[in-house]
Amino acid sequence: QLPGISLRSNHEPLVEMLPRPAVDDQKAIRRVAVVGGGTAGYLTAIALRTKRPWLEVSLIESPSIPIIGVGEATVPGIVIFLHHYLGIDVEDFYRQVRPTWKQGIRFEWGPRPDGFMAPFDWDSNSIGTAGAVDAGGGIDGYTLQSLLMSAERAPVFDVGDRHLSLMKYLPFAYHLDNARFVSYLADIAKQRGVQHVEAKIEDVALSGDDWVDHLHTTDGRKLSYDFYVDCSGFRSMLLGKAFRTPFHSYASSLFTDSAVTGNVGHGGNLKPYTSAITMNSGWCWDIPTPQDDHLGYVYSSNAISDDQAAAELAARFPGVSEPRFVRFRVGRHEKAWRGNVMAIGNSYAFVEPLESTGILMITSSVQALVASLPGSWADPQCRDMVNVGLANRWDALRWFLSIHYRFNTRRDTPFWREVRANTDISGAQPMLDMYATGAPLRYRNPLLRTFVQGNAPTFYGLAGVETILLGQQVPTRLLHRAEPPARWQARRNAADAFVRRALPQLEALSRFHDDPALNQQLLFDADSWASPLRAEPIGML
Ligand code: FAD
Repeated sequence: QLPGISLRSNHEPLVEMLPRPAVDDQKAIRRVAVVGGGTAGYLTAIALRTKRPWLEVSLIESPSIPIIGVGEATVPGIVIFLHHYLGIDVEDFYRQVRPTWKQGIRFEWGPRPDGFMAPFDWDSNSIGTAGAVDAGGGIDGYTLQSLLMSAERAPVFDVGDRHLSLMKYLPFAYHLDNARFVSYLADIAKQRGVQHVEAKIEDVALSGDDWVDHLHTTDGRKLSYDFYVDCSGFRSMLLGKAFRTPFHSYASSLFTDSAVTGNVGHGGNLKPYTSAITMNSGWCWDIPTPQDDHLGYVYSSNAISDDQAAAELAARFPGVSEPRFVRFRVGRHEKAWRGNVMAIGNSYAFVEPLESTGILMITSSVQALVASLPGSWADPQCRDMVNVGLANRWDALRWFLSIHYRFNTRRDTPFWREVRANTDISGAQPMLDMYATGAPLRYRNPLLRTFVQGNAPTFYGLAGVETILLGQQVPTRLLHRAEPPARWQARRNAADAFVRRALPQLEALSRFHDDPALNQQLLFDADSWASPLRAEPIGML
């Protein structure tokens, strides 16, 4: 015993301070420009003002260049990011943005006629993957949430005259109508003191390879700041155009470059998941919003024309609205942050939306910037670490998405034959080799697991990766079960009984609307996946 000292616990809790410049610092970073008013621009500007309120933040946006206007399915981190990190009031958010809940993705993908569910509670394996495969061939029903998805229910119950929500135990994300979301963010930005500058940037004046001196606008203004965040979308005005930062394409792994979008009525059936539906030359998202389902067929312009894509979408979804076309390029710039410019959003990197990663990656960049922006140019800086960290996350996503394509045997069209033969999955190969020797990966030897973890994208992890592989029935050796089959069946029966009592999403949402305590439980109960206790260790408080 050493009096007053424990040899086990950490006795020196420290608080990370965000650097604030001294009043007389000539090199202080005080004035920040965010160029672009899409999702990336507004989330960045709000975060900077919220976390570093001494900064003067201006958001520059051209009314003649529309935002991309898609970006509607998210992952569970968005709930923590919006309501804890940015401190956005949850009731106000539901009233203005009218989100719906996403419990995962339903993939019409792979060999099984029904496809498979990729629920967000994949880590829990609450019912059992091996039992599910033995019972029916596929993984559906391996978690409680995947059963809720199949039954199109949400974990909210009427018990007598009370409402009971188990949403705090099952991670979920939001579906967001992009127009409502961005206009809501614009209001929040205004309330938090972000200055809105309407201007079209015509030219960027440099003073050195990695330094922006000022911006020229088309109406003759000269705008100068201490730091610039490039959120100008695919135009990448500062990082790409002005700095000519090299671009690493992911096109050898991801063959699509276009999308045609439209809306179709859902007749009041609000599905609690995003669908990813295999199409002849790509796939189609189906994102339920309160009014209608938002659709987008993501395709390769090498395989079909825009007109053919629109026709295929209309044939699959009769009554879909007028088509709107979007072009994109997949890949990332060599670095996100150079000198006094950091790019966030599509101006830095993009992968197509098969796993709804756009806003996830924006929030990672925002958090990295807020935590590492120096208070003064005289302070030490850690740009390279931020650049390597973000680049690794993007590259991991590239390999994750590539395996969705390489192993999808659902259709035998020229596009899918080409994809199965030639998709570059080299970065995922070590992980695939280990998967082939035994799954689920999360039950493998802990040391091997840490080896392979480096290959898996941060949020999706091993469980997310193997959901996609097992769901597509990519061959593996299934680990032996150490319990009698009847025990798996008993869990499955209990879960089925539970699901039968759960409410359809529309009704469940109305319970949340009527009873604000349900959202408070979700966001503040200590045992919730979205509580401050969970937000704190991931830097989201
Ligand atoms: P944009 O929305 O393009 O905004 C760019 C801004 O820069 C605009 O305000 C424009 O006015 C301004 N600007 C540009 N040039 C100038 C200039 N010269 N002067 C002044 N201002 C200028 N993400 C998800 O999380 N989930 C999804 O389901 C999803 N689906 C997607 C589907 C598709 C087909 C695509 C392409 C993307 C999808 N994304 C999704 C990603 C998502 O759309 C983007 O990550 C997000 O919208 C961020 O866009 P942005 O803010 O970077 O750019």
